Amino acid sequence: MKFTKSIRWRLLLWIALFLSLVLAALVFAAFEIYFIGRLDRIDVELNRRTVAISRALFTQKAVGIETESADLANADAIQTAETAQTADLDPKKITASLRRFQSVDPNGFYSAVWLLKDTDPTFISANAPDDLSRPRLATRDTSTYTRTRGDYRETFHATERGDCVLTGHSLAMENANAQRILFWLVFGSLTVLGLGLGGASFIIGQALRPVEKIGAAAQHIANGHLSERIPAKETDSELGQLAAVLNSTFARLETAFAQQKRFTADAAHELRTPLTVLITEAQLTLSRERSTAEYKESMAASLETAQQMRKLANLLLELSRFDAGQEKLEREPTDLAALARECVKLVTPLADERGIRIHTDLPATTIEVDAARIRQIVTNLLTNAVRYNRDNGGIFITIQKEEHLVVLAVADTGNGISTTDLPRVFERFYRADKSRASGGSGLGLAISKAIAEAHGGTIEVSSEAGRGSIFTLRLPV
Ligand code: ADP
Repeated sequence: MKFTKSIRWRLLLWIALFLSLVLAALVFAAFEIYFIGRLDRIDVELNRRTVAISRALFTQKAVGIETESADLANADAIQTAETAQTADLDPKKITASLRRFQSVDPNGFYSAVWLLKDTDPTFISANAPDDLSRPRLATRDTSTYTRTRGDYRETFHATERGDCVLTGHSLAMENANAQRILFWLVFGSLTVLGLGLGGASFIIGQALRPVEKIGAAAQHIANGHLSERIPAKETDSELGQLAAVLNSTFARLETAFAQQKRFTADAAHELRTPLTVLITEAQLTLSRERSTAEYKESMAASLETAQQMRKLANLLLELSRFDAGQEKLEREPTDLAALARECVKLVTPLADERGIRIHTDLPATTIEVDAARIRQIVTNLLTNAVRYNRDNGGIFITIQKEEHLVVLAVADTGNGISTTDLPRVFERFYRADKSRASGGSGLGLAISKAIAEAHGGTIEVSSEAGRGSIFTLRLPV
């Protein structure tokens, strides 16, 4: 099977894709939340420190270094500080006021101050990175900016005078932590993906195994082992139902196949008998010189046999046409009662010979059918009713209208049909009387059934041993 056509691989691919997307989104979200959270905390701290330094530097004149609060947490907005800023700041005093930032901050923060337009810092923490240079800012831009420079996060701010204060913090530890967290997140995701796909593959395998089994069993049966069946343990599941449907299909196939085989064998057998009669008759006649009268008699016997064969061949041809769906019905509005009366008239001489009376109850009923075909059924039912009746018996032919149906029934007072024969009388060549004394072909009812079904109708029989049979033809209106 092609990889892309396999249900297992398609499902796995879909699950892998879906799970990967979900996990990637989760990893991204978790990482972002962690990293942005960390960065936010650092930024707040950097801002606070920048403000504090600004205040420490530029409000010294107003409040004095000694009195300036060292409480960094209470630092106000830079603008407040700047209002107190003056142009005559003493660099010495500034350096003195920055002394407390000089020692290496245990939390890893560093700061630098550039006064006026200086490019060299007036003050720089001992732990500041070597490549720290004065950030470039537009003149009179007093906004506070935050930037990430390599492994460093920095916040800087310029005063209106042009001094610049910068605080920073190394991101080395954050980056290392982030990498470690990312590694574990990816590792965890891959593990979840692996477990998910492994589990899915197992479940799909389990789910598809019965399908594979059904496929293999169906293939085996289709290869000619028609009597075998798909083993179906539970019939409630979808697959159990599929197996049951396939099994019933195979059962029907087996029956149809057996019927077909029997039909061919029967047909050959039915034709062989008259052929044997013909050949024997001819051999017998030719075995010695015969008188003209004897030749005539022999020819007449042969003709009768040949006509029987032709009748049989015609019936077989008709049946095979119905089987192939080639037999076209010529439907026309027909009075079923009038049609039935014609048939009764046809078989009356036959019935009279044995003292059988035909009773009718035939209300006028118009129905659209192929009249010739329906006549064939009714004649066949009536002929059988005479043939399998007792002498001086009776036949009842009736028509009744039911909802959407016309029901024609032919009942007789014959010996009836045994329960073993009853389900088989519509089979081809089936005759309850194995001696075939009746002279029937055993095809009449089979053809009647084919005609009824071609009309969308049905034909059924019910019988009581010793009391007679009723054949019921139902045709849709
Ligand atoms: P056949 O040409 O032998 O009558 P059918 O197909 O018409 O062939 O009938 C098949 C068999 O059904 C008959 O051989 C007979 O055994 C049984 N059968 C049909 N009609 C009747 C009936 N009215 N009463 C009893 N048996 C019948």
